[in-house]
Amino acid sequence: RRAEYATLKNLPAETRDGERLTLMVNAGLAEDASMLEVAGADGIGLFRTEFQFLVAATLPGRESQLKLYKSVLDAAGDKPVVFRTVDIGGDKALPYLSDEKDESENPAMGWRALRLSLERKALMKAQARALVEASAGKVLRVMFPMVSEPWEYEEARALFEEQIEWAQGAKRPLPARIEFGAMLEVPSLAEMLDLLLPRIDFLSIGTNDLTQFLFAADRSDPRLADRYDWLSPAILRFLRRVTAQANAAGVPVRVCGEMAGRPLEALALMGIGIESFSITPAAVGPVKAMIRSVDARAVRTKVEALLVKPPANMRKSLHDWAKRNG
Ligand code: PEP
Ligand code: MG
Repeated sequence: RRAEYATLKNLPAETRDGERLTLMVNAGLAEDASMLEVAGADGIGLFRTEFQFLVAATLPGRESQLKLYKSVLDAAGDKPVVFRTVDIGGDKALPYLSDEKDESENPAMGWRALRLSLERKALMKAQARALVEASAGKVLRVMFPMVSEPWEYEEARALFEEQIEWAQGAKRPLPARIEFGAMLEVPSLAEMLDLLLPRIDFLSIGTNDLTQFLFAADRSDPRLADRYDWLSPAILRFLRRVTAQANAAGVPVRVCGEMAGRPLEALALMGIGIESFSITPAAVGPVKAMIRSVDARAVRTKVEALLVKPPANMRKSLHDWAKRNG
């Protein structure tokens, strides 16, 4: 199969009936950018900037951030890179950032990601300035993790806009354009999309966190691994509603959680109208092979029908259908 995936490298992620999907990769280190070529992907849909912070012994300064972001953009060439601002805190606590260990009982729901960034503004400013400078003459795509309500997005965005203004005033080279996105991984945001959508350039769904919050089931607890399925109707119906709302508003949607890296799950996502995925590089071959083997319209019809009256075993029903049709 390896060899088969290698031959797909230069072929588009196109369905039998001619629909072109976007397959991007998740990355976090400078080396990951070279995977783009290897995997035959359309760009980096999620660059987890906190990796640099997690492997460092001291807080990475603006210069070292700048160096990393530049090298990633250079390696990606013409392909887009979506930088996510740091998702630290909670169980990814940095010893050099806080004097005390985070004793929170529910770190996933704790003081992390954008919540922390909005209170440690100096940290976010340094990151914003590094991203703006690294993207000189290019498109800067940035998104914020764990947005729970639109005001958090607005505050984060305003901070970036201030850095752009500063760079403008200081006659520094500017990005050609800047696109802002929000991650949807906290369910409360789904209820506020009518307010958020007009303000964002893209929406990125983080299904790792989203499913744990939707099911109130810790994503890192192995005892809960069988408690829910990514193919459960609850998840798919939720995602379908969000996707339809974003599509109606003309806002592109991408799924960047691990779910999208599994061919059967990606098939279900296609069925509810998702056209863009950001997945682990090793999953690009298998997911592309799946996409190229199916008819997009038939997939949508099938998944629609399954969601109207969900079968007892969604996974089995979809799997059986996929065997016969792709
Ligand atoms: C997610 O939550 O689905 C996601 C992509 O972000 P992370 O896994 O880094 O929390
Ligand atoms: Mg997440």
